[in-house]
Amino acid sequence: MSTTILVTGGAGYIGSHACKVLARAGYTPVTYDSLTTGWRDAVTFGPFEEGDLLDRERLDQVFAAYRPAAVMHFAALSQVGESMTDPGTYWRNNVAGSLTLIEAAVAAGCLNFVFSSTCATYGDQDGVVLDEGCAQYPLNAYGASKRAIEDMLENFEASHGLRHVIFRYFNVAGADPDGEVGEFHRPETHLIPLMLDAVDGKRDALTIFGTDYDTPDGTCVRDYVHVMDLVDAHVLGLKWLQDDKGSRVFNLGTGTGFTVREVVNSSAAVTNREVPIIEGDRRPGDCVALVSGSTRAGQELGWQPARSTLDAMITDAWRWHQTGNYER
Ligand code: UDP
Repeated sequence: MSTTILVTGGAGYIGSHACKVLARAGYTPVTYDSLTTGWRDAVTFGPFEEGDLLDRERLDQVFAAYRPAAVMHFAALSQVGESMTDPGTYWRNNVAGSLTLIEAAVAAGCLNFVFSSTCATYGDQDGVVLDEGCAQYPLNAYGASKRAIEDMLENFEASHGLRHVIFRYFNVAGADPDGEVGEFHRPETHLIPLMLDAVDGKRDALTIFGTDYDTPDGTCVRDYVHVMDLVDAHVLGLKWLQDDKGSRVFNLGTGTGFTVREVVNSSAAVTNREVPIIEGDRRPGDCVALVSGSTRAGQELGWQPARSTLDAMITDAWRWHQTGNYER
């Protein structure tokens, strides 16, 4: 019988890709999603259970019905800008919601937990190599909410034996090359899909948030990872827990940073069209540069981000952009 994994946020961007690779690896993913920011049509692999992270009764029912061997917890609000204007919603949904989920998992005896954290927990640290051991100083409520959940997991391990793998994502981009699932946010706030909207006229222009940063061309630097590479790491993380290797934190980034302008240039090359841009103000809460300095995931998990070139990510995002969405 195949092993069941409870995937919170399985109707979202990263969760839907995770369900696909879990199914391909022989697991049964069960999506638990409130559909607040996710899409019913994105659930193409495994059963779907609608529910909110804050609904303990519903979570208890789902744990009892499926008896999952592990939880992969993707469900979260994830916009830096919004987290600065509405921090309460981030603390309630992300932190209180995760607490409810973790308590339900422990009560059900499901003690393997894979958690989506973020490099936004590091904040700006000029010249410091961002590896898993470095201190965390989140600049925004989104990052702060994720750091709080990391702390929570440690506490629940100490008292209840909750084994966990924490993945600190850098910037996730691209889409399933088969086009079965992809990135679809409403409203969209992320750089690459907004840029592709600007390329094909769905919006007038891409506004670059800040051109006076202390970087080679004045725009922010990010480390972009292909979503398929990212979710591959989750399957390795699951095996890590199943092999009883203990709790561990892994950065998921390639170690190479690109400026916003470099991403714009790459999009122009891939799509063979100009990207209309407006040079705008800085966005509150943005870090200047976030680039992973760690090779731990490669060394310990054997993770190899094979598709994470800018060209491949934008090519896959562009294909999805032209053919797929969930407003069917
Ligand atoms: N960005 C931008 N214009 C946009 C959206 C994003 O210039 O319309 C920049 C943003 O300031 C950051 C980078 O693109 O430097 C990636 O932003 P995104 O929101 O995609 O991810 P984040 O780094 O906030 O997780």
